[in-house]
Amino acid sequence: MEMTASRILDGRAVAHAVRAEVAERVKALRARGVVPGLAVVLVGDDPASQVYVKNKDKAAAEAGFAVRTLRLPATTPQAELEARVTELNRDRAVHGILVQLPLPRGLAAEPVLELLDPAKDVDGLTAHNVAALWRGEGGLVPCTPAGCIELLDRHGLGIEGKRAVVIGRSQLVGKPLAALLLARNATVTLAHSKTRDLAAVAREAEILVAAVGRAKLVRASWVKPGAVVLDVGINRLEDGRLCGDVDFHEVAPIAGAITPVPGGIGPMTIAMLLANTARAAARATGLAERGSP
Ligand code: NAD
Repeated sequence: MEMTASRILDGRAVAHAVRAEVAERVKALRARGVVPGLAVVLVGDDPASQVYVKNKDKAAAEAGFAVRTLRLPATTPQAELEARVTELNRDRAVHGILVQLPLPRGLAAEPVLELLDPAKDVDGLTAHNVAALWRGEGGLVPCTPAGCIELLDRHGLGIEGKRAVVIGRSQLVGKPLAALLLARNATVTLAHSKTRDLAAVAREAEILVAAVGRAKLVRASWVKPGAVVLDVGINRLEDGRLCGDVDFHEVAPIAGAITPVPGGIGPMTIAMLLANTARAAARATGLAERGSP
């Protein structure tokens, strides 16, 4: 008999609940004459980006947002892309702007992100929002890390005082997640490709997060029994199936709780994008609410 004592953290179910709450807030905004608007900028035809954008558009429309997708060819000059973003900054019907990354070769993301109005930066990637995050000033927080925290909170999994290890130090996931865990009083280690004896570092974690992009990197021997394991990775296996950075079948029997891939952090990311957009719209129109994700 296989022992699977761990809790599977169902990101789809939690995301569903968050999205329903966001839809309620959108309804309330609409009732007061504000139609929250999200603009998604997609440059080029990267297949993964196409899928992500399609899912985001659909979820946003379902929650009652006015969604506008700007599809630009991969050959778009940098200046034109920046001009389009500037237009969206000025557009009062647009409360959230998301520039889908990565941009095609030849286009630089940094100058585009820096142009974004921080109040509309629903991916939380502008320098303004990064600084606000580390200072604890309540700006817009990147969606995937925010989704990780929300998933822990809604399962009643405590963060304060815990040893947390985040593997991966990207601007999009690892670094902001470290900041969020720190803000919640975890003791945080940010590990990466140059970390010596990564397995031993990971084994210290009571909360272990893998955000690397390597299928099944995290093995059973890397996990402290009872640890909470969040798998952010999305990797495509040769047979076409999706798989996380954690070897789920090996780790699930050891972990106290674990997110599956798909159906874990992925759906949470989209839910938090909607929460951020609702928040941006409420703030822009002076209807901000407290205590909502
Ligand atoms: P990235 O490529 O920007 O960063 C990867 C990080 O992993 C780097 O900091 C690097 O130091 C570290 N790393 C690389 N190889 C390593 C190794 N062998 N050991 C330890 N660390 C190593 O990636 P990212 O944008 O942070 O994304 C990471 C993964 O998460 C990808 O699979 C991506 O598809 C996925 N992702 C998922 C969501 C979601 O919604 N679930 C959102 C964003 C990213």
